[in-house]
Amino acid sequence: MKQNNEQKKISGIGVAPGVAIGPAYIIEQSGIPVPEYTIDEDQTEAEIKRLQGAIVKVQRHLGQLRKKAETLPTGSEDMVLLLDAYKGMLSGSRLVRGVEEIITNQHINAEAAIQKQINALKADFAAMNDAYLAARADDVGEVGSRLLRSLLQQNYNPFAEAPEGCIILADEITPADAALLDPGRVVGFATVLGGAEGHAAIIARALGLPAISGVGALTHGIHSGDIVIIDGRNGELIARPDVQTLVAYKRAVARKKQEEKRLRALRDLPAETIDGKPISLQANMELPRDIDAVDDAGASGVGLLRTEFMFMNRSTLPDEEEQYQTLKTILERLDGKPLTIRTLDVGGEKIASALGGAVGESVNPALGLRAIRLGLKRAKLLDTQLAAILRVSVHGPVRILIPMVSSVTQIKQVRAHLIQVERRLHRRGIKLRGLPPLGAMIEIPAAALVADSLARVCDFFSIGSNDLTQYTIAIDRGDDSVADLYDPFHPAVLRLIQFTVAAAWRMNIPVSLCGEMAGDARATALLLGLGLRELSMSPLRLPAVKNEIMKISLPDASDFAETILNKTDHDNILAVLQAHFADSRG
Ligand code: PEP
Ligand code: MG
Repeated sequence: MKQNNEQKKISGIGVAPGVAIGPAYIIEQSGIPVPEYTIDEDQTEAEIKRLQGAIVKVQRHLGQLRKKAETLPTGSEDMVLLLDAYKGMLSGSRLVRGVEEIITNQHINAEAAIQKQINALKADFAAMNDAYLAARADDVGEVGSRLLRSLLQQNYNPFAEAPEGCIILADEITPADAALLDPGRVVGFATVLGGAEGHAAIIARALGLPAISGVGALTHGIHSGDIVIIDGRNGELIARPDVQTLVAYKRAVARKKQEEKRLRALRDLPAETIDGKPISLQANMELPRDIDAVDDAGASGVGLLRTEFMFMNRSTLPDEEEQYQTLKTILERLDGKPLTIRTLDVGGEKIASALGGAVGESVNPALGLRAIRLGLKRAKLLDTQLAAILRVSVHGPVRILIPMVSSVTQIKQVRAHLIQVERRLHRRGIKLRGLPPLGAMIEIPAAALVADSLARVCDFFSIGSNDLTQYTIAIDRGDDSVADLYDPFHPAVLRLIQFTVAAAWRMNIPVSLCGEMAGDARATALLLGLGLRELSMSPLRLPAVKNEIMKISLPDASDFAETILNKTDHDNILAVLQAHFADSRG
């Protein structure tokens, strides 16, 4: 049969930025055929033993993968965490208990019982309709498949034969498989399954590999060895590119490398406008491993430490000592730079297990018992976290940030907790040098509109533009079907930001912005013009924002902000921001 040499384009979603070019390497992922047969009642014990044998083997294999993951140059902490979570799923978990019960009650073989239990757990997770839990369902599936492979004596490394410089095309890349990926050999990947929230995407970003997903019928008409281009910026895959396309993309890759090199060179330069005004550029952190990126980016501190990671993937709450130790490790790495610690911003089903059933199901989680509302209802949860933060504050500059604040009363209540916790620590012989600054996230329109009252009871503000956008224009930030309407540059959002910044200036308290907008270089001139002098963002975005700051004068930024605020149509605003940004790049 004649081989098709025509260029072929497939669209998906870009989940990790950048462009990669290389030969395709297709991973065939045929499902594992699962035999089902009944066993005699007196064989159930032996069958459970067989299951336990497989569990031990998989645990050992996961241990080996963990060792391998530890040697990866980047992204190893994510993988290690995940592999540990997998190991956790193999002892006393619902998965294992359920399989044992099915073997005992239904008298069927271990493989069939595993398949049944995976299906049941996946159905439970799917019913919860939550992106985070959907990813956990994949984890259960992954652990289950490993057990099946072990029982059926199937072991494979899907990348064992992957050639140097290749691009992996697969239905799905599981995190444990990804631990086998050698980032020195693989230059990018494309998958059918998994969105921007998926593990493959997270791992690709951690490894700095361009990736796209959501590409239906991915491998149809593409063969291993065909040259493919992955464009992580727009989610496009081009197979067998024509000469013109290939040359254009090769140029793009070379330009990107140059640009990255140039931006890296800004690391140690001060973030200063052309009229010499310093701007504080801080970093957001979600996981302890992010501290390396914070350092590489030359951030002047951590403006937002999301503490949710301490409460995820576990069935017990972290105690004060554990939280203190975790925070201390991060603070020590900052070596005197400030750390803004946000108290727990979660609730509802997400971490119900770690909260020991303390939190019920919310009808509408975005509007339900979450963040500080939860903390004030479950005082022990808040107090334990405050105690850990107060204890760590003796080791360096720390600020306490309260999420989802909607009223002055909430801040007064938190302050009362803080004073009480300090007294308790004092009685335990732990002496502090005063209380750290206490600030509010301004991310609910109500908080922005009472910002002048809040400024009297807060020591600082941090504007959460992600939630502020969600709640102002009533667009669920996690819902794909309305994602095109989610617009942080909507005039209503910009006016609330302006109002908040003005209130902070009047009361002379620091105000920063820590939503995604802070890391969008198109927004930099506007944000400075609105009066912001502190921004906190993903560390990877910091060099580009610094680059922009170095081209702006504050008077020009104010004029620009005024022009933008006079506009009423949000489409128009984005176009003006884009044009201004393109101009500034020259
Ligand atoms: C925000 O809402 O803008 C924010 C920074 O917090 P998170 O994204 O964690 O909700
Ligand atoms: Mg928020």
